[in-house]
Amino acid sequence: MALYKVKIFELLGNKCAKCGETDWRLLQIDHVNGGGTRERKLGVKEGSKRGNSAYHHIWKEIVKEGKKDKYQLLCANCNWLKRYERDELTRDRYPDQPTFIEIFEEIRKGRTEFEWKGRKYPVKEISEEETT
Ligand SMILES: [Zn+2]
Repeated sequence: MALYKVKIFELLGNKCAKCGETDWRLLQIDHVNGGGTRERKLGVKEGSKRGNSAYHHIWKEIVKEGKKDKYQLLCANCNWLKRYERDELTRDRYPDQPTFIEIFEEIRKGRTEFEWKGRKYPVKEISEEETT
């Protein structure tokens, strides 16, 4: 379904919405308000039914349903940064645990233990044995 991907890229301006990168190999279709995983599943499901892909689903939404604002192009770097900033990776999968960023920031503060939602999380030191 390369044709739909090309069309979607054209409709979304052929460049990263954040930094302006235009190398199409680095560009990815991003859901402005998240929900990409659910959408992909939906697209694949729909695709298997009608012989179309997730790209067709997105193209249809943009062109037929006028939902262009739902999507944007981001380069891989900006997309990763957005995911970390929004903590999509860990929050979606483990809603009851601190996210990578929350843990990362606590460790960077030099904490040996931190509290999150009333639960205590110890920060272990990396032992010399583990590094060999
Ligand atoms: Zn970018």
